[in-house]
Amino acid sequence: MLERIEEIRGEASAAIAAAGSSAELEELRVRYLGRKAELTGVLRGIAELPPEERGEVGGAANRARKELEALLEQSAERLSASELEQQLVSDRIDVTLPGAPPRPVGHPHLIARTTRLIEDTMVGLGYHVAEGPEIEHDYYNFTALNHPPGHPARMLQDTFYVQSHPDVLLRTHTSPMQVRSMEAKPPPIFVVVPGKVYRRDSDATHSPMFHQVEGLAIGEGLTLADLQGTLLAMCRALFGAERELRLRPHFFPFTEPSVEVDVSCFQCGGSGELAGGERCNLCKGQGWIEILGAGMVDPNVLGFVEGHGYDAERVQGFAFGIGVERVAMLRHGVPDLRRFFDNDVRMLEQFG
Ligand SMILES: [Zn+2]
Repeated sequence: MLERIEEIRGEASAAIAAAGSSAELEELRVRYLGRKAELTGVLRGIAELPPEERGEVGGAANRARKELEALLEQSAERLSASELEQQLVSDRIDVTLPGAPPRPVGHPHLIARTTRLIEDTMVGLGYHVAEGPEIEHDYYNFTALNHPPGHPARMLQDTFYVQSHPDVLLRTHTSPMQVRSMEAKPPPIFVVVPGKVYRRDSDATHSPMFHQVEGLAIGEGLTLADLQGTLLAMCRALFGAERELRLRPHFFPFTEPSVEVDVSCFQCGGSGELAGGERCNLCKGQGWIEILGAGMVDPNVLGFVEGHGYDAERVQGFAFGIGVERVAMLRHGVPDLRRFFDNDVRMLEQFG
């Protein structure tokens, strides 16, 4: 038995000394000191030996085990140090190589920046910003906005419908959020809704996808004068502190009365003439530029949210919708709306 222990010790020491990696070392630990190792079996069987052999065999086996443990530990330290060394060599970066060329830092798209400008202005007036789904129910896009089924006003907006679901469409305006916002919160409510809208339309001033900011204010005692004051503040933030507004009667199904809103021309100052006496090309000599549609919320619309606290006898308010592309085109002299979506960096980089 003592000879066998000595054999195991010798064989194991030699193998440990020759091990070339931490993984190999771990294998040797299992083979010589693990639960099923021969030496472990000897130590476990000592109690069954004749009493006179127990002390000697036990002592030899324990010494062998301790020696192998110490050897394993030393080798592990040696190997992990050299493995680290190897890794450092193989991972070394040649700092003298030329680097990748610097990537240009981008900036928000002009449409995003214009949207933010409108949002910031309205937040400054106490409005919240809300976003809604671009794929919308007919109910929110039309019916609850006082466009009953079959109403001719539905034909004014060339709508994309989802083929398999005739009640589902790509919203034609961000106005569906009027009713959604009122369903979510009792009055008073002051909210602006930026987002993409879709209509079957494409030319220099129309795109099948474009951006709107909808505004809705409902409370007690709100009048057309509040609408005018709010829009004046917004238009002055967008087009300059000197601007004036003009409201013209119009028709929208979900406001009554409805108005179209013109802002005084910021190129000719509203005179319609440039310094040399020639006609202003921006306002076509009119002195005014049409900028958005608005009106007092039709009581019929409030009727759809009466159960949410909107009693048309008690609260009233106004709504407006402004086209973001139109604002950006006017502010920056962009002649064709489609240029915003061509993704030509020569165009986009002008507005960094
Ligand atoms: Zn002008």
